[in-house]
Amino acid sequence: MNPVTLSALEIVRPGDAGYDAARPAWNLAIDQRPAAVAIPRDADQVVAAVLYAKHEGLRVAAQGTGHNASPLGDLSDTLLVKTHEMRGVEIDASNRVARVEAGALWGDVVAPAGEHGLAALAGSSHDVGVVGYSLGGGISFLARRYGLSADRVLAAEIVTADGELVRADRSQNQDLFWALRGGGGAFGVVTAMEIELLDLPTVYAGAAFFEIERAAEALHAWRELTQRVDECTTSVGRILRVPPFEEIPEPFRGREFAMIEIIHIGDQRSGDDVVQAIRDLEPEIDTYGLIPSSALIHLHMDPPGPVPGKGEHHVAMETLPAAAIDAFVAANGAGSGSHILTAEIRHVGGAIARRDAGRGAAHLDAEYISFAASIAATPELAAKADHDLAQLDAALEPFGGARRYLNFTEVKSDATAFYEPTTLARLRAIKAQMDPENIFRSNQPLD
Ligand SMILES: Cc1cc2nc3c(=O)[nH]c(=O)nc-3n(C[C@H](O)[C@H](O)[C@H](O)COP(=O)(O)OP(=O)(O)OC[C@H]3O[C@@H](n4cnc5c(N)ncnc54)[C@H](O)[C@@H]3O)c2cc1C
Repeated sequence: MNPVTLSALEIVRPGDAGYDAARPAWNLAIDQRPAAVAIPRDADQVVAAVLYAKHEGLRVAAQGTGHNASPLGDLSDTLLVKTHEMRGVEIDASNRVARVEAGALWGDVVAPAGEHGLAALAGSSHDVGVVGYSLGGGISFLARRYGLSADRVLAAEIVTADGELVRADRSQNQDLFWALRGGGGAFGVVTAMEIELLDLPTVYAGAAFFEIERAAEALHAWRELTQRVDECTTSVGRILRVPPFEEIPEPFRGREFAMIEIIHIGDQRSGDDVVQAIRDLEPEIDTYGLIPSSALIHLHMDPPGPVPGKGEHHVAMETLPAAAIDAFVAANGAGSGSHILTAEIRHVGGAIARRDAGRGAAHLDAEYISFAASIAATPELAAKADHDLAQLDAALEPFGGARRYLNFTEVKSDATAFYEPTTLARLRAIKAQMDPENIFRSNQPLD
């Protein structure tokens, strides 16, 4: 059987040539097998995909990259709309706006924006999707000063359950616009977003690397630093086990580090002041300095492409007592037996946690948030990852709050974990009005 062509829209079903090439997610550990996959090339083809699904009695799930594919679950009744062929990006430098198509990656935005001295609230990874990340909130390395990516969304174009392409912004479809800024992907298939860019040609940023045996010393110093800095500084305390891959340069390859990543909006002098307490500890390597904002996307050294991973583990914390650092190191430091690839605590709060008027549904009422991920390339590695990640979760859980962060959650969770009751009630009301037959499936349903 050949792929069905519907107004030039490519749709493949199980048994079609191309089905196996079309269905994988970025997270290669997820074996998603949808009823069909649509690969639209423009907004009209997204309309065609939604109408096709309705005609065939299928539900619809949009997917940009599949970074967060694991909570989706069984897709045997679902048309998976994969937007990776829609990666257009236009930068309107004079108005500081990026217009991105549904499948654009952060790497597609930060480089052309950077050519104009503009910065975006990108995530740590070049190949996370702008739309999926922003629908779920979006914590960047500039977050304490500028808030969530969702807060900088100026407009979204979306194909609704009626198969109509509508625009939502501050003057039209305002409820939908509010919901799309943090409420996730349950309202339709977003075809494009307009995002505010920042006039920020350079930032002071980098990382200090310590031998893993010095993790407690480095992370305690970082914790104290987070209690002194203002919102111009966002930072991360981390333990990283660098894989032994040939392409990784020698000083890092196969090594285990404690790392302190610091991002400071300011000049060389104020940045040097902020990092001094970490430099005083004489790390093995330190890359702190003034860099183009567009280079921030490389700071975290995330994987260059798809990997089989387990990453559902995070804890949002209102405070970070010294005992939390001790617990983090005991569960994942030297001698713990842990093989976790990366475990980090991000200092958030600041503009993220404020309740400014005019914001959307996204809100993260936490000062710190942990995230950990491990490789799950084989069943044995997956079992070891589950064990290690559960051990770390158990260590941090006593310090955690009730709320979870949508984008860092990779297991299906109750929607009450992500939103306050009034926010969730409003999201559910908008969903019921926009999509009464519940055609659209997001990774984390609102019901
Ligand atoms: C290596 C790595 C680094 C990360 N770094 C960060 C970080 O720094 N900060 C942060 O906040 N998060 C980060 N994340 C989490 C990331 O933000 C989430 O996984 C996010 O959901 C990814 O969006 P995506 O579009 O790439 O993934 P997808 O799995 O494609 O999409 C996730 C969900 O978004 C919705 N969606 C996507 N596209 C559309 C669309 N066109 N229309 C409607 N709904 C849509 C769907 O509900 C979909 O299930 C990271 C994840 C990984 C694996």
